[in-house]
Order: sequence, then structure tokens, then C-alpha cells
Amino acid sequence: MLRGHTRSSVRNRFALSVKSRCMAELKAAHRTHQGKIETLKRVMPEVISTIVLCFRGYCGNQCAKNSYVCSGNKRQAKNFMPANVKVKMVASDQEVLKKCIEMVLGPMALEATKLLTTTPNMCEAVNRVLSSSDPQKCHFLT
Ligand SMILES: [Zn+2]
Repeated sequence: MLRGHTRSSVRNRFALSVKSRCMAELKAAHRTHQGKIETLKRVMPEVISTIVLCFRGYCGNQCAKNSYVCSGNKRQAKNFMPANVKVKMVASDQEVLKKCIEMVLGPMALEATKLLTTTPNMCEAVNRVLSSSDPQKCHFLT
């Protein structure tokens, strides 16, 4: 019971971190490209895979090149990571994470957030995706 509780609160913090990173990327990219949705759609696939790499601990050149908020300096990446959480992901987790990020930065989401007037409820979305995946396979928290 206690374990389950701890697990879900850490998962929540992780979801919040993913959310804040995505929102930061989205806002910065919007500024850089002056809200041009077509441009944003073109650059976001790279940004999405960069965020996945960064959250896996491979912060570096990819971030420097593609990220709008992380310069590839690990210290910066930490701003977006929950404290004391070691993220170890297997391939299926990465897919889940990618899906979560796509909810904010994917083409559909970009259309929906055109004017940044609506903020998708990312945390709930992430939790929904995470809880629908096989918990045995979720290694976010190991
Ligand atoms: Zn990074």
C-alpha cells in the first residue's frame, strides 16, 4: 500500500516535470517562430525526440541543437527533472513518454493550442497513459 502510494506520487512528479518541460519548449518555440504553426509542426518532431533523450539522461548536443529551453547543459536539464528521481527507461517506457510529449507538441496539439489560450491538462493525460500501460513494464521509477 505504502509502496503503491510512493510510486504514484513519484510518477506524478515525473508527469509534472514532463509537462513543464513541454510547456516551456512550446512557449519558447512559439516565441522563436512567432506562432507560425506550420514551422512549429516541422521542428517539433526533432524537439520531441530531443526531450526523450534529455529525460533519459542523454543531455548534450541534441539539446544544444534542437531544444528551445535546454542548451545541452545537464544542470539546466535538472531544472525540469524531479529531484531524487532516477529515470531508467526501457523501450516501452520511451514510447509512453513520447506519446505524452506528443500530446503537447504533436501536430494535433499544436493546432489545438494555436493561440496558447488553452493549456492541455498534461498531467492527467500523462497519468492516463502511464496507468494504461503495463505497470510491470514501467521502469520510470526503478
Ligand atoms: Zn537537455
